[in-house]
Amino acid sequence: MTRAHWIERLVFAVLVLAGLLCPQGPARFYGAMVIAFVGITCVLLPGAALFTWLSERSPSRLQGPRRLPTFAWRGTKDTLGATLVASCLLAWPLARLRAGEPTGLVWTLEEAGGLGTVVLGNLFALVALDAWLYWKHRLLHTRWLFPFHRAHHGYRDPTSYSSFAVGAVESLLTFFPIVLLAFPWAPHYAPVYFALVAGFVTLNLYLHCGAQSRLVEAVLPRLWLNTSAFHNRHHADASVNFGEALILWDHLMGTREAARLDQAKSASSP
Ligand SMILES: [Zn+2]
Ligand SMILES: [Zn+2]
Repeated sequence: MTRAHWIERLVFAVLVLAGLLCPQGPARFYGAMVIAFVGITCVLLPGAALFTWLSERSPSRLQGPRRLPTFAWRGTKDTLGATLVASCLLAWPLARLRAGEPTGLVWTLEEAGGLGTVVLGNLFALVALDAWLYWKHRLLHTRWLFPFHRAHHGYRDPTSYSSFAVGAVESLLTFFPIVLLAFPWAPHYAPVYFALVAGFVTLNLYLHCGAQSRLVEAVLPRLWLNTSAFHNRHHADASVNFGEALILWDHLMGTREAARLDQAKSASSP
């Protein structure tokens, strides 16, 4: 077992055992963790199965007829690991909720600070979080951190089972903002929050499906969102297209594949 594997296991152990320190009590924490784990699994795995079933039959598969296995079981196992990390994080606000204590999840615009605050706050959070996801992904491709990201690149011709098939360290770096829901001083307007989470999950399932819908591929870039064709290229060539939700940072940082090709062309022209 490599050092990276030991660190991944340590992260799992710390996140699970931290529940013993939960102020609402370990019973509430672990109950919440199980509820979160079952709830997230019941969304991700049927979603992955549906997207995979549709895309494997699609005539517009991005890497042509499948030559590599779909690795559905391996993807399921890795996804359950990432779900465990997300559940350990979600258990903190859920434990407060179960104890009847206030959390950061609010249901009225008034509690969220008004319409203007909700709109501007969510736009700012979206761009800031996406910037973090982009730079986290760039960092994971450095020599020191790639061992924690290598497994995701094992899915060279991905299916939606690989959408959330990432290790404990990458899961923690991706999902840690969930803990903010535990704090009443960080109000999240629930309808917008759940819509954004559902959008992120659906987008990620589509990004890894291995096929493309012409309509979706035309619409998403107009919204500055990542597409299946765009992210599929990252799985085939790990030096381009690092964006996880928006394509903004790849445009700004010159890591978009089209930009790289343009650079190569101008360098080779006399
Ligand atoms: Zn990916
Ligand atoms: Zn990568």
